[in-house]
Amino acid sequence: MTELAGLKVYVRGIVQGVGFRPFIYGLATQRHLTGWVRNTSSGVEIEVDGEPAALDDFLAAIQREHPPLARIDRLESQPCPINGYTQFSIDASQPLPGEFMPISPDVAVCADCRRELFDPSDRRYRYPFINCTNCGPRFSIITDIPYDRPNTSMANFPLCPDCQREYEDPRDRRFHAQPVACPTCGPSIWLESQGARLAEKEDALQMARDWLRQGKIIAVKGLGGFHLACDALNPQAVAELRRRKQRVGKPFAVMAFDLDTVRRFAGVSPEEQAQLTSPAHPIVLLDAKEDSGVAPEVAPGQNTLGIMLAYTPLHLLLLEPAPDFPSLLVMTSGNLSEEPIAYQDDDARSRLAGLADGFLMHNRPIHSRVDDSVVRILGQAPYFSRRSRGYAPNPLLLPKSLPPILAAGAELKNTFCLTRQEYAFVSHFIGDMENYETLASFEAGVAHFERLFRIQPERLACDLHPDYLASRYAQERSRREGLPLVLVQHHHAHLAACLGDNGWVSQEPVIGLSFDGAGLGPDGAIWGGEVLLGGYASYQRLYHLAYVPLPGGDLAARNPARMALAHLWQAGLDWDPALPPVQSLCFDDRTALRAQIEHRINTPLTSSMGRLFDAASALVGVCQKNTYEGQAAIELEMLADPLEEGHYPFEIRAGKAGESGILEPRPMWEALTADALAGTPIPVMAARFHNGLAGLALDVCTAIRQTTGARVVALSGGVWQNRRLTEITIRRLKQGGFTVLLHRQLPPNDGCIALGQAMVAAYAP
Ligand code: ZN
Ligand code: ZN
Ligand code: FE
Repeated sequence: MTELAGLKVYVRGIVQGVGFRPFIYGLATQRHLTGWVRNTSSGVEIEVDGEPAALDDFLAAIQREHPPLARIDRLESQPCPINGYTQFSIDASQPLPGEFMPISPDVAVCADCRRELFDPSDRRYRYPFINCTNCGPRFSIITDIPYDRPNTSMANFPLCPDCQREYEDPRDRRFHAQPVACPTCGPSIWLESQGARLAEKEDALQMARDWLRQGKIIAVKGLGGFHLACDALNPQAVAELRRRKQRVGKPFAVMAFDLDTVRRFAGVSPEEQAQLTSPAHPIVLLDAKEDSGVAPEVAPGQNTLGIMLAYTPLHLLLLEPAPDFPSLLVMTSGNLSEEPIAYQDDDARSRLAGLADGFLMHNRPIHSRVDDSVVRILGQAPYFSRRSRGYAPNPLLLPKSLPPILAAGAELKNTFCLTRQEYAFVSHFIGDMENYETLASFEAGVAHFERLFRIQPERLACDLHPDYLASRYAQERSRREGLPLVLVQHHHAHLAACLGDNGWVSQEPVIGLSFDGAGLGPDGAIWGGEVLLGGYASYQRLYHLAYVPLPGGDLAARNPARMALAHLWQAGLDWDPALPPVQSLCFDDRTALRAQIEHRINTPLTSSMGRLFDAASALVGVCQKNTYEGQAAIELEMLADPLEEGHYPFEIRAGKAGESGILEPRPMWEALTADALAGTPIPVMAARFHNGLAGLALDVCTAIRQTTGARVVALSGGVWQNRRLTEITIRRLKQGGFTVLLHRQLPPNDGCIALGQAMVAAYAP
């Protein structure tokens, strides 16, 4: 017989609340190892005795076979004396003061629970809150650590004897599943309208389905907040929802029961299928099928459809197929446009009263609001527009350990970021920080993350813009707590975020194409078409789009027609009455606009790439007015002819000593307006505009490589949500010999800014 040996193992990462200890228990007992496993506040500890070969195999199996929701960031092992255990056990948790560990995000209902949900012989048959160790709510119900039931919003639901038995049995799928529940002991649903409870449990579900069938609008309390639901195939219902929500054109997301249903409405590639069915179940932007029956009001002017699969048991029951039941439901956030999504019962009742005909409620409190995440596939891999439910608060693993930093993030699409050791905890989606409700949600989120991960910031970071609500919060905290505050320029934050997202460690300067709508520059202008060279610690602004007047400041972003005329004025081109944006403004408006630009009345200067897109969209005749952020650019992209290879030229002017070079759009405008006046088809002009920008990106990077040797390019900023532009630019840069860094874990839009600010602050001198 071989000599026995002892081994101590420490595992760090997402290893609690994901079935990790029963997994270890199984591995150990299969290999006849003895000893114990236990949770601590920083991970999982294991001590085992066994034959050396079995111990090696045990370690390899931890890495190879770990549960699907676990994420191992570190696995350390060391030999130890054998201590003669006779069996393997799961020991009591060991709290370590001040220690911390990542927490699992919320997880979509798993295949096993789904099967039980529709199995008449199962004791949880049609129970809307079925879950197990492999699925269910996590982040949205956690109030504190350690992740145990008393520290969740399930604290007030004592387990019945049956659930208790499952909870305590290491061989059961519900062993230590904190949200475990059943019809006897768990939460329940009801339907209410105008303060009256109309039906309970299954009756409530059926009544809600009847109302949806009839074209009514139902507020559904879900996992991370309320949705507004209606029949996505019923144009009147969707139009009514738009009217009540005061949302003109921004697309609604829809939800389907299963993949087969999705395929009836959109094309689904293998990569897209993998995203739809991943544990996060995000909204996936798919190519919509024509004439599939989806009401045009769902996504006006789009050829894509944002679809997600039902991700909770309640959603599955609500969408269960029936011959006369809508196969697709609009599932849009429960709010008036601009406000944060409602997640508390009374708040929802008051804010959504005028929006919903009825409320499908439940009594499991939502502790943290989490919006649905949105991804699309780019280059065979997921590419985020919004990273929230199913991903937050998963930390990004950083290339090196950082001091504790709080970065407050941007104004729009805000997220914040807290760092500790090698982890960056980027928050769930907070939203546009333009009102009191969103600020309150931001402050509560920061406090919650600091408590959950035991982080005491030693340094703060925020945008250069002093009046952003997030910046004010950081200034105020810096004063109150005497903490150093690092101000980070927005487009430098984009570059640093893209580097951090890619785990960049090299000292080599990187070219940052930070293309977006707006961010304050140190010169007081509104930047947005920025070509930077640098890294975490510093940057140089090598080139930028030529400045143009921004008539009316922020208001200009809603008026592509006015932006088009400002660009023509700057380029010295006529406001030809045959051009669509000129036609869309009346004579008086044009006269006032000209006076405003010439006399510089409330017209800051901007190098915004977003506004360049707006102007182009207006000039080719696509969109004269934005009803939501990015509309003109999105509609322009949708129309671009994929086969057109022509392009509009830009001029690149080198900067004089110490000054930035200029990316001059004048030749582009000359060619584009000539095309427009000659009656060139819109798809051709749209394609030439996109191709021209990709060519500009390659040309400016090539010019920089000639003088500096830089050969790595980082793409960050909301403009890189444009799939066509991004794909052509990547292709051309790679053909040109460049290495391209793309966001992979965070969105390229301002949802990444907080990480960038944190990285800059960490490396600040
Ligand atoms: Zn499950
Ligand atoms: Zn129970
Ligand atoms: Fe930005």
